[in-house]
Amino acid sequence: MTQHYDLIVIGGGSGGLSVAERAARHGARCALIEADRLGGTCVNVGCVPKKIMWYAAHLAHALDDAPGYGFRLDYFGFDWKKLKTARDAFVHNINEWYLGYLAEAGVELIRGFGRFADARTLTVGDQRYSADHLVIATGGRPRVPQVPGAQFGITSDGFFELSACPRRIAIAGSGYIAVELAGMLNALGAEVTLLVRKDQVLRPFDAMLREQLMERLREDGIHVLTRTQINAVARLAKGMLSLHCDGRGDTLEVDTLLWAIGRDPNTDTLDLAAAGVTANPNGTIPTDPYQNTNVAGIYAIGDVTEHAQLTPVAIAAGRRLADRLFGQQPERRLFYENIPSVVFSHPPIATVGLTEEDARQRHGTAVRVHQTRFRPMYHAFTQRQPPTAMKLVCVGPEEKIVGCHLIGENADEMLQGFAVAIRMGATKHDFDDTVAIHPTSAEELVTMR
Ligand SMILES: Cc1cc2nc3c(=O)[nH]c(=O)nc-3n(C[C@H](O)[C@H](O)[C@H](O)COP(=O)(O)OP(=O)(O)OC[C@H]3O[C@@H](n4cnc5c(N)ncnc54)[C@H](O)[C@@H]3O)c2cc1C
Repeated sequence: MTQHYDLIVIGGGSGGLSVAERAARHGARCALIEADRLGGTCVNVGCVPKKIMWYAAHLAHALDDAPGYGFRLDYFGFDWKKLKTARDAFVHNINEWYLGYLAEAGVELIRGFGRFADARTLTVGDQRYSADHLVIATGGRPRVPQVPGAQFGITSDGFFELSACPRRIAIAGSGYIAVELAGMLNALGAEVTLLVRKDQVLRPFDAMLREQLMERLREDGIHVLTRTQINAVARLAKGMLSLHCDGRGDTLEVDTLLWAIGRDPNTDTLDLAAAGVTANPNGTIPTDPYQNTNVAGIYAIGDVTEHAQLTPVAIAAGRRLADRLFGQQPERRLFYENIPSVVFSHPPIATVGLTEEDARQRHGTAVRVHQTRFRPMYHAFTQRQPPTAMKLVCVGPEEKIVGCHLIGENADEMLQGFAVAIRMGATKHDFDDTVAIHPTSAEELVTMR
Protein backbone atom coordinates (compact mmCIF):
# COMPACT_ATOMS: atom_id res chain seq x y z
CA MET A 1 0.00 0.00 0.00
CA THR A 2 1.23 3.53 -0.78
CA GLN A 3 1.35 5.97 2.13
CA HIS A 4 0.36 9.50 1.19
CA TYR A 5 1.70 12.81 2.60
CA ASP A 6 1.37 16.51 1.88
CA LEU A 7 5.15 16.75 1.45
CA ILE A 8 8.01 14.29 1.16
CA VAL A 9 11.63 15.41 1.21
CA ILE A 10 14.45 13.24 -0.11
CA GLY A 11 17.59 14.00 1.90
CA GLY A 12 18.05 14.87 5.57
CA GLY A 13 20.79 17.47 5.23
CA SER A 14 20.69 21.22 5.83
CA GLY A 15 18.04 21.90 3.18
CA GLY A 16 15.86 18.83 3.63
CA LEU A 17 15.63 19.09 7.41
CA SER A 18 14.67 22.76 7.17
CA VAL A 19 11.93 22.42 4.58
CA ALA A 20 10.36 19.41 6.35
CA GLU A 21 10.44 21.00 9.79
CA ARG A 22 9.02 24.34 8.61
CA ALA A 23 6.31 22.65 6.52
CA ALA A 24 5.27 20.46 9.46
CA ARG A 25 5.07 23.50 11.72
CA HIS A 26 2.71 25.04 9.16
CA GLY A 27 0.52 21.96 9.63
CA ALA A 28 1.56 19.84 6.65
CA ARG A 29 1.82 16.07 6.96
CA CYS A 30 5.49 15.48 6.16
CA ALA A 31 7.97 12.67 5.72
CA LEU A 32 11.72 12.85 5.22
CA ILE A 33 13.77 10.10 3.58
CA GLU A 34 17.41 9.80 4.60
CA ALA A 35 19.84 7.08 3.54
CA ASP A 36 22.64 7.98 5.95
CA ARG A 37 23.22 10.06 9.10
CA LEU A 38 20.90 12.99 9.75
CA GLY A 39 22.47 16.39 9.22
CA GLY A 40 23.93 15.65 5.78
CA THR A 41 27.23 17.02 4.56
CA CYS A 42 27.42 20.07 6.82
CA VAL A 43 27.06 18.20 10.09
CA ASN A 44 28.90 15.00 9.24
CA VAL A 45 31.64 15.77 6.71
CA GLY A 46 31.49 19.52 6.15
CA CYS A 47 31.12 22.79 8.04
CA VAL A 48 30.88 21.40 11.57
CA PRO A 49 33.84 18.99 11.82
CA LYS A 50 35.82 21.33 9.56
CA LYS A 51 35.32 24.31 11.85
CA ILE A 52 36.52 22.20 14.80
CA MET A 53 39.71 21.41 12.88
CA TRP A 54 40.03 25.08 11.96
CA TYR A 55 39.81 26.02 15.64
CA ALA A 56 42.58 23.50 16.38
CA ALA A 57 44.73 25.02 13.63
CA HIS A 58 43.93 28.50 14.91
CA LEU A 59 45.15 27.44 18.36
CA ALA A 60 48.34 26.07 16.83
CA HIS A 61 48.99 29.53 15.35
CA ALA A 62 48.09 31.17 18.66
CA LEU A 63 50.66 28.96 20.44
CA ASP A 64 53.28 30.19 17.98
CA ASP A 65 52.19 33.76 18.67
CA ALA A 66 52.07 33.47 22.47
CA PRO A 67 55.81 34.09 23.20
CA GLY A 68 55.44 37.54 21.64
CA TYR A 69 52.97 38.33 24.41
CA GLY A 70 55.37 37.16 27.11
CA PHE A 71 54.27 33.55 27.52
CA ARG A 72 56.90 30.89 28.10
CA LEU A 73 55.40 27.60 26.99
CA ASP A 74 56.33 23.94 27.11
CA TYR A 75 54.66 22.46 24.09
CA PHE A 76 54.04 18.71 23.92
CA GLY A 77 52.58 18.48 20.44
CA PHE A 78 49.10 17.80 19.19
CA ASP A 79 46.96 14.71 19.89
CA TRP A 80 44.97 14.28 16.65
CA LYS A 81 43.25 11.10 17.91
CA LYS A 82 41.98 12.81 21.03
CA LEU A 83 40.50 15.67 19.04
CA LYS A 84 38.97 13.26 16.51
CA THR A 85 37.25 11.28 19.28
CA ALA A 86 35.81 14.46 20.81
CA ARG A 87 34.81 15.78 17.38
CA ASP A 88 33.06 12.54 16.41
CA ALA A 89 31.14 12.58 19.71
CA PHE A 90 30.11 16.19 19.09
CA VAL A 91 28.84 15.30 15.61
CA HIS A 92 27.05 12.21 16.95
CA ASN A 93 25.20 14.42 19.45
CA ILE A 94 23.98 16.62 16.59
CA ASN A 95 22.80 13.51 14.67
CA GLU A 96 20.81 12.47 17.74
CA TRP A 97 19.52 16.00 18.32
CA TYR A 98 18.03 16.00 14.82
CA LEU A 99 15.97 12.91 15.66
CA GLY A 100 14.25 14.96 18.40
CA TYR A 101 13.99 17.98 16.08
CA LEU A 102 12.03 15.98 13.50
CA ALA A 103 9.93 14.11 16.07
CA GLU A 104 9.01 17.32 17.86
CA ALA A 105 7.90 18.95 14.62
CA GLY A 106 5.91 15.82 13.72
CA VAL A 107 7.97 14.84 10.66
CA GLU A 108 8.08 11.12 9.94
CA LEU A 109 11.60 9.84 9.30
CA ILE A 110 11.93 7.12 6.67
CA ARG A 111 15.31 5.42 6.71
CA GLY A 112 16.60 4.28 3.34
CA PHE A 113 17.41 5.31 -0.18
CA GLY A 114 14.65 7.12 -2.04
CA ARG A 115 14.09 7.11 -5.78
CA PHE A 116 11.30 8.21 -8.08
CA ALA A 117 8.66 5.78 -9.34
CA ASP A 118 6.66 8.56 -11.01
CA ALA A 119 5.98 12.29 -10.55
CA ARG A 120 4.06 11.74 -7.30
CA THR A 121 5.57 8.53 -5.96
CA LEU A 122 8.87 7.50 -4.39
CA THR A 123 10.13 4.07 -3.45
CA VAL A 124 12.36 3.17 -0.53
CA GLY A 125 13.22 -0.51 -0.81
CA ASP A 126 9.91 -2.17 -1.60
CA GLN A 127 7.80 0.50 0.13
CA ARG A 128 5.99 3.19 -1.87
CA TYR A 129 5.26 6.72 -0.67
CA SER A 130 3.37 9.47 -2.48
CA ALA A 131 2.87 13.18 -1.83
CA ASP A 132 1.33 16.29 -3.32
CA HIS A 133 4.72 18.00 -3.04
CA LEU A 134 8.16 16.35 -3.40
CA VAL A 135 11.42 18.11 -2.56
CA ILE A 136 14.78 16.92 -3.87
CA ALA A 137 17.45 17.85 -1.30
CA THR A 138 19.98 15.11 -1.89
CA GLY A 139 23.11 17.31 -1.81
CA GLY A 140 26.39 16.26 -3.37
CA ARG A 141 29.52 14.17 -2.97
CA PRO A 142 33.23 14.83 -3.56
CA ARG A 143 34.49 14.26 -7.09
CA VAL A 144 37.36 11.86 -7.82
CA PRO A 145 39.04 12.22 -11.23
CA GLN A 146 39.35 9.48 -13.83
CA VAL A 147 43.11 8.98 -13.64
CA PRO A 148 44.93 5.70 -13.01
CA GLY A 149 45.38 5.11 -9.27
CA ALA A 150 42.92 7.86 -8.26
CA GLN A 151 41.38 5.41 -5.76
CA PHE A 152 44.55 5.62 -3.62
CA GLY A 153 43.61 9.18 -2.74
CA ILE A 154 41.04 10.30 -0.19
CA THR A 155 38.51 13.14 -0.38
CA SER A 156 37.24 15.64 2.19
CA ASP A 157 35.04 12.79 3.49
CA GLY A 158 38.22 10.74 4.09
CA PHE A 159 39.91 13.70 5.77
CA PHE A 160 37.40 13.38 8.60
CA GLU A 161 38.25 9.69 8.98
CA LEU A 162 42.02 10.22 9.34
CA SER A 163 43.16 8.90 12.71
CA ALA A 164 46.51 10.71 12.57
CA CYS A 165 47.93 13.78 10.94
CA PRO A 166 49.53 12.88 7.59
CA ARG A 167 53.26 13.58 7.50
CA ARG A 168 53.40 14.58 3.87
CA ILE A 169 50.18 15.30 2.00
CA ALA A 170 49.32 16.53 -1.49
CA ILE A 171 46.00 18.28 -1.95
CA ALA A 172 44.72 18.58 -5.51
CA GLY A 173 42.35 21.51 -5.96
CA SER A 174 42.04 25.26 -5.81
CA GLY A 175 38.59 25.85 -4.33
CA TYR A 176 37.71 26.80 -0.80
CA ILE A 177 37.78 23.23 0.53
CA ALA A 178 41.29 22.69 -0.87
CA VAL A 179 42.74 25.86 0.66
CA GLU A 180 40.96 25.35 3.98
CA LEU A 181 42.24 21.80 4.41
CA ALA A 182 45.72 22.84 3.26
CA GLY A 183 45.85 25.58 5.90
CA MET A 184 44.62 23.33 8.71
CA LEU A 185 46.94 20.44 7.93
CA ASN A 186 49.88 22.79 7.61
CA ALA A 187 49.17 24.40 10.99
CA LEU A 188 48.75 20.98 12.61
CA GLY A 189 52.14 19.76 11.44
CA ALA A 190 51.81 18.16 7.99
CA GLU A 191 54.06 19.06 5.09
CA VAL A 192 51.51 20.23 2.54
CA THR A 193 51.74 20.56 -1.22
CA LEU A 194 48.80 22.20 -2.95
CA LEU A 195 48.46 21.25 -6.61
CA VAL A 196 46.58 23.89 -8.56
CA ARG A 197 45.51 23.20 -12.14
CA LYS A 198 45.62 26.83 -13.31
CA ASP A 199 47.47 29.86 -11.94
CA GLN A 200 45.47 30.76 -8.88
CA VAL A 201 43.38 29.52 -6.00
CA LEU A 202 39.77 30.61 -5.38
CA ARG A 203 39.18 31.63 -8.98
CA PRO A 204 35.65 33.09 -8.61
CA PHE A 205 36.75 35.37 -5.73
CA ASP A 206 37.94 38.98 -5.94
CA ALA A 207 41.52 39.23 -7.27
CA MET A 208 42.69 40.95 -4.09
CA LEU A 209 41.61 37.96 -1.99
CA ARG A 210 43.20 35.46 -4.38
CA GLU A 211 46.52 37.28 -4.39
CA GLN A 212 46.65 37.85 -0.64
CA LEU A 213 45.76 34.25 0.10
CA MET A 214 48.32 32.88 -2.34
CA GLU A 215 50.98 34.99 -0.63
CA ARG A 216 49.85 33.73 2.80
CA LEU A 217 49.80 30.06 1.81
CA ARG A 218 53.37 30.31 0.58
CA GLU A 219 54.60 32.33 3.57
CA ASP A 220 53.05 29.77 5.91
CA GLY A 221 55.20 27.11 4.27
CA ILE A 222 52.68 25.41 1.98
CA HIS A 223 54.19 24.37 -1.35
CA VAL A 224 51.82 25.74 -3.96
CA LEU A 225 52.42 24.24 -7.40
CA THR A 226 50.45 26.03 -10.11
CA ARG A 227 49.69 24.70 -13.59
CA THR A 228 50.06 21.22 -12.18
CA GLN A 229 47.68 18.34 -12.62
CA ILE A 230 48.04 14.75 -11.44
CA ASN A 231 47.77 12.25 -14.31
CA ALA A 232 48.56 9.01 -12.46
CA VAL A 233 48.98 7.74 -8.92
CA ALA A 234 51.00 4.67 -7.95
CA ARG A 235 51.34 2.92 -4.62
CA LEU A 236 54.92 2.52 -3.37
CA ALA A 237 56.35 0.51 -0.51
CA LYS A 238 55.72 1.60 3.10
CA GLY A 239 52.37 3.18 2.31
CA MET A 240 53.79 5.99 0.21
CA LEU A 241 52.20 7.24 -3.00
CA SER A 242 53.90 8.49 -6.11
CA LEU A 243 52.07 11.22 -8.02
CA HIS A 244 52.90 11.74 -11.67
CA CYS A 245 52.16 15.32 -12.55
CA ASP A 246 51.42 17.06 -15.82
CA GLY A 247 52.94 20.42 -16.37
CA ARG A 248 55.97 19.81 -14.18
CA GLY A 249 56.89 16.50 -15.74
CA ASP A 250 58.09 15.21 -12.39
CA THR A 251 56.78 13.04 -9.58
CA LEU A 252 55.91 13.77 -6.01
CA GLU A 253 56.03 11.31 -3.12
CA VAL A 254 53.53 11.67 -0.32
CA ASP A 255 51.89 9.46 2.28
CA THR A 256 48.43 10.95 1.63
CA LEU A 257 46.74 12.38 -1.44
CA LEU A 258 43.52 14.33 -1.05
CA TRP A 259 41.26 15.19 -3.99
CA ALA A 260 39.42 18.49 -3.50
CA ILE A 261 38.56 19.13 -7.13
CA GLY A 262 34.84 19.79 -6.82
CA ARG A 263 31.58 18.09 -5.93
CA ASP A 264 28.95 16.25 -7.96
CA PRO A 265 25.22 16.38 -7.21
CA ASN A 266 23.51 13.23 -5.90
CA THR A 267 21.00 12.98 -8.72
CA ASP A 268 22.28 10.10 -10.85
CA THR A 269 20.59 7.36 -8.80
CA LEU A 270 17.25 9.12 -8.18
CA ASP A 271 15.70 7.97 -11.45
CA LEU A 272 14.66 11.53 -12.27
CA ALA A 273 13.48 10.34 -15.69
CA ALA A 274 10.68 8.31 -14.05
CA ALA A 275 9.28 11.61 -12.75
CA GLY A 276 10.12 13.59 -15.88
CA VAL A 277 12.50 15.92 -14.00
CA THR A 278 15.17 17.51 -16.17
CA ALA A 279 18.78 17.79 -15.01
CA ASN A 280 21.69 19.78 -16.42
CA PRO A 281 24.54 17.84 -18.09
CA ASN A 282 26.53 18.14 -14.84
CA GLY A 283 23.67 16.55 -12.88
CA THR A 284 22.43 19.68 -11.06
CA ILE A 285 18.72 20.37 -11.24
CA PRO A 286 17.63 23.68 -12.76
CA THR A 287 14.86 25.52 -10.90
CA ASP A 288 13.01 28.77 -11.32
CA PRO A 289 13.43 31.45 -8.60
CA TYR A 290 10.77 29.63 -6.51
CA GLN A 291 12.68 26.29 -6.46
CA ASN A 292 10.21 24.73 -8.93
CA THR A 293 11.71 22.12 -11.24
CA ASN A 294 10.23 21.58 -14.70
CA VAL A 295 7.61 19.23 -13.15
CA ALA A 296 4.77 20.82 -11.17
CA GLY A 297 4.87 19.76 -7.51
CA ILE A 298 8.55 18.74 -7.58
CA TYR A 299 11.11 21.16 -6.15
CA ALA A 300 14.87 21.16 -5.64
CA ILE A 301 16.92 22.98 -2.99
CA GLY A 302 20.51 23.14 -1.76
CA ASP A 303 23.58 21.61 -3.35
CA VAL A 304 21.64 19.72 -6.04
CA THR A 305 20.71 23.04 -7.61
CA GLU A 306 22.91 25.49 -9.50
CA HIS A 307 23.20 27.93 -6.61
CA ALA A 308 25.93 28.68 -4.07
CA GLN A 309 26.72 25.47 -2.21
CA LEU A 310 26.42 26.72 1.34
CA THR A 311 24.46 25.48 4.33
CA PRO A 312 22.60 28.73 5.07
CA VAL A 313 21.58 28.92 1.39
CA ALA A 314 20.07 25.41 1.51
CA ILE A 315 18.31 26.22 4.81
CA ALA A 316 16.95 29.55 3.62
CA ALA A 317 15.69 28.08 0.33
CA GLY A 318 14.01 25.22 2.23
CA ARG A 319 12.29 27.39 4.81
CA ARG A 320 11.05 29.86 2.23
CA LEU A 321 9.73 27.05 0.06
CA ALA A 322 7.76 25.65 3.03
CA ASP A 323 6.41 29.14 3.82
CA ARG A 324 5.28 29.48 0.22
CA LEU A 325 3.64 26.05 -0.04
CA PHE A 326 2.04 25.80 3.39
CA GLY A 327 2.40 29.18 5.13
CA GLN A 328 0.20 31.28 2.86
CA GLN A 329 3.10 33.39 1.62
CA PRO A 330 2.76 32.85 -2.15
CA GLU A 331 5.63 35.17 -3.10
CA ARG A 332 8.11 33.91 -0.51
CA ARG A 333 11.43 32.86 -2.03
CA LEU A 334 15.17 33.20 -1.56
CA PHE A 335 16.97 36.01 -3.35
CA TYR A 336 20.38 34.69 -4.32
CA GLU A 337 22.17 38.05 -4.58
CA ASN A 338 24.43 39.35 -1.83
CA ILE A 339 24.97 36.04 -0.09
CA PRO A 340 27.87 36.43 2.33
CA SER A 341 30.36 33.62 2.79
CA VAL A 342 33.59 32.84 4.59
CA VAL A 343 36.62 30.77 3.64
CA PHE A 344 38.20 29.34 6.77
CA SER A 345 41.73 29.85 5.61
CA HIS A 346 44.50 31.25 7.84
CA PRO A 347 43.71 34.10 8.09
CA PRO A 348 40.06 33.77 7.07
CA ILE A 349 38.41 35.37 4.06
CA ALA A 350 34.95 36.94 4.13
CA THR A 351 33.15 38.15 1.06
CA VAL A 352 29.79 39.44 -0.11
CA GLY A 353 28.50 40.86 -3.37
CA LEU A 354 30.27 41.55 -6.63
CA THR A 355 33.99 41.18 -7.21
CA GLU A 356 35.66 44.27 -8.65
CA GLU A 357 36.00 42.49 -12.01
CA ASP A 358 32.27 41.62 -12.12
CA ALA A 359 31.26 45.11 -11.02
CA ARG A 360 33.38 46.70 -13.77
CA GLN A 361 31.85 44.38 -16.34
CA ARG A 362 28.34 45.30 -15.23
CA HIS A 363 28.76 48.97 -14.36
CA GLY A 364 31.89 50.10 -16.28
CA THR A 365 33.28 53.44 -15.22
CA ALA A 366 30.60 53.95 -12.57
CA VAL A 367 32.63 51.67 -10.29
CA ARG A 368 34.81 53.12 -7.57
CA VAL A 369 36.97 50.95 -5.35
CA HIS A 370 38.29 51.71 -1.87
CA GLN A 371 40.88 49.45 -0.34
CA THR A 372 43.31 49.17 2.50
CA ARG A 373 46.00 46.82 3.72
CA PHE A 374 47.48 47.00 7.19
CA ARG A 375 49.08 44.96 9.95
CA PRO A 376 46.50 44.32 12.67
CA MET A 377 47.56 45.33 16.16
CA TYR A 378 47.52 41.70 17.34
CA HIS A 379 50.44 40.97 15.03
CA ALA A 380 52.55 43.84 16.31
CA PHE A 381 53.89 41.34 18.88
CA THR A 382 54.00 38.10 16.94
CA GLN A 383 56.57 36.45 14.71
CA ARG A 384 53.92 35.89 12.05
CA GLN A 385 52.87 39.09 10.35
CA PRO A 386 49.88 38.31 8.13
CA PRO A 387 48.37 41.58 6.91
CA THR A 388 44.67 42.33 6.81
CA ALA A 389 43.30 43.57 3.49
CA MET A 390 39.89 45.04 2.75
CA LYS A 391 38.12 46.19 -0.39
CA LEU A 392 34.82 47.99 -0.91
CA VAL A 393 33.39 47.99 -4.42
CA CYS A 394 31.00 50.90 -4.95
CA VAL A 395 28.79 51.99 -7.84
CA GLY A 396 27.37 55.31 -9.00
CA PRO A 397 27.57 58.86 -7.67
CA GLU A 398 25.98 57.76 -4.38
CA GLU A 399 28.65 55.01 -4.10
CA LYS A 400 26.27 52.21 -3.31
CA ILE A 401 28.30 49.33 -1.91
CA VAL A 402 27.95 46.29 -4.15
CA GLY A 403 30.91 44.26 -2.89
CA CYS A 404 32.87 43.88 0.31
CA HIS A 405 35.95 41.62 0.46
CA LEU A 406 38.05 40.96 3.54
CA ILE A 407 41.03 38.80 4.42
CA GLY A 408 42.55 38.93 7.86
CA GLU A 409 42.27 37.91 11.49
CA ASN A 410 38.58 37.82 12.56
CA ALA A 411 37.24 38.61 9.07
CA ASP A 412 34.98 35.56 9.54
CA GLU A 413 33.18 37.23 12.45
CA MET A 414 33.31 40.73 10.94
CA LEU A 415 31.21 40.40 7.82
CA GLN A 416 27.75 39.29 8.97
CA GLY A 417 26.61 42.73 10.18
CA PHE A 418 28.08 44.50 7.17
CA ALA A 419 26.24 42.01 4.94
CA VAL A 420 22.94 43.20 6.49
CA ALA A 421 23.84 46.81 5.71
CA ILE A 422 24.84 45.99 2.14
CA ARG A 423 21.63 44.01 1.60
CA MET A 424 19.72 47.09 2.78
CA GLY A 425 21.48 49.21 0.15
CA ALA A 426 24.18 50.92 2.25
CA THR A 427 26.38 53.51 0.59
CA LYS A 428 29.98 54.47 1.29
CA HIS A 429 28.61 57.53 3.03
CA ASP A 430 26.55 55.32 5.38
CA PHE A 431 29.70 53.40 6.27
CA ASP A 432 31.68 56.65 6.79
CA ASP A 433 28.87 58.10 8.89
CA THR A 434 28.94 55.12 11.28
CA VAL A 435 30.98 55.65 14.42
CA ALA A 436 33.95 53.28 14.58
CA ILE A 437 34.58 50.69 17.29
CA HIS A 438 38.12 51.17 18.49
CA PRO A 439 40.57 49.46 18.58
CA THR A 440 39.45 46.81 16.13
CA SER A 441 40.27 45.82 12.58
CA ALA A 442 36.61 46.18 11.59
CA GLU A 443 36.78 49.92 12.19
CA GLU A 444 38.88 50.24 9.03
CA LEU A 445 35.71 49.47 7.06
CA VAL A 446 34.08 52.67 8.28
CA THR A 447 37.18 54.84 8.13
CA MET A 448 38.46 53.86 4.68
CA ARG A 449 39.34 56.62 2.23
C1 LIG B 1 34.44 19.91 3.54
C2 LIG B 1 33.24 20.82 3.42
C3 LIG B 1 33.19 21.99 4.14
C4 LIG B 1 32.09 22.82 4.05
N1 LIG B 1 32.10 23.97 4.77
C5 LIG B 1 31.03 24.81 4.71
C6 LIG B 1 31.01 25.99 5.48
O1 LIG B 1 31.96 26.31 6.22
N2 LIG B 1 29.92 26.78 5.40
C7 LIG B 1 28.86 26.46 4.59
O2 LIG B 1 27.89 27.22 4.57
N3 LIG B 1 28.87 25.36 3.83
C8 LIG B 1 29.93 24.51 3.87
N4 LIG B 1 29.93 23.37 3.13
C9 LIG B 1 28.81 23.11 2.20
C10 LIG B 1 27.60 22.54 2.93
O3 LIG B 1 27.96 21.41 3.67
C11 LIG B 1 26.51 22.22 1.92
O4 LIG B 1 26.23 23.34 1.14
C12 LIG B 1 25.22 21.77 2.59
O5 LIG B 1 25.43 20.65 3.40
C13 LIG B 1 24.17 21.45 1.51
O6 LIG B 1 23.00 20.98 2.11
P1 LIG B 1 22.00 20.06 1.28
O7 LIG B 1 20.82 19.85 2.17
O8 LIG B 1 21.80 20.60 -0.06
O9 LIG B 1 22.77 18.68 1.09
P2 LIG B 1 23.47 17.71 2.12
O10 LIG B 1 23.79 18.36 3.39
O11 LIG B 1 24.60 17.07 1.38
O12 LIG B 1 22.36 16.61 2.43
C14 LIG B 1 21.92 15.69 1.48
C15 LIG B 1 21.43 14.46 2.21
O13 LIG B 1 20.70 13.63 1.29
C16 LIG B 1 21.00 12.28 1.56
N5 LIG B 1 20.68 11.55 0.33
C17 LIG B 1 21.26 11.67 -0.89
N6 LIG B 1 20.61 10.89 -1.78
C18 LIG B 1 19.61 10.29 -1.12
C19 LIG B 1 18.57 9.37 -1.49
N7 LIG B 1 18.43 8.99 -2.76
N8 LIG B 1 17.72 8.93 -0.54
C20 LIG B 1 17.83 9.34 0.74
N9 LIG B 1 18.79 10.22 1.16
C21 LIG B 1 19.65 10.68 0.23
C22 LIG B 1 22.46 12.28 1.94
O14 LIG B 1 22.78 11.13 2.71
C23 LIG B 1 22.55 13.58 2.76
O15 LIG B 1 22.31 13.32 4.12
C24 LIG B 1 31.00 22.47 3.21
C25 LIG B 1 31.03 21.29 2.48
C26 LIG B 1 32.15 20.47 2.58
C27 LIG B 1 32.18 19.18 1.78
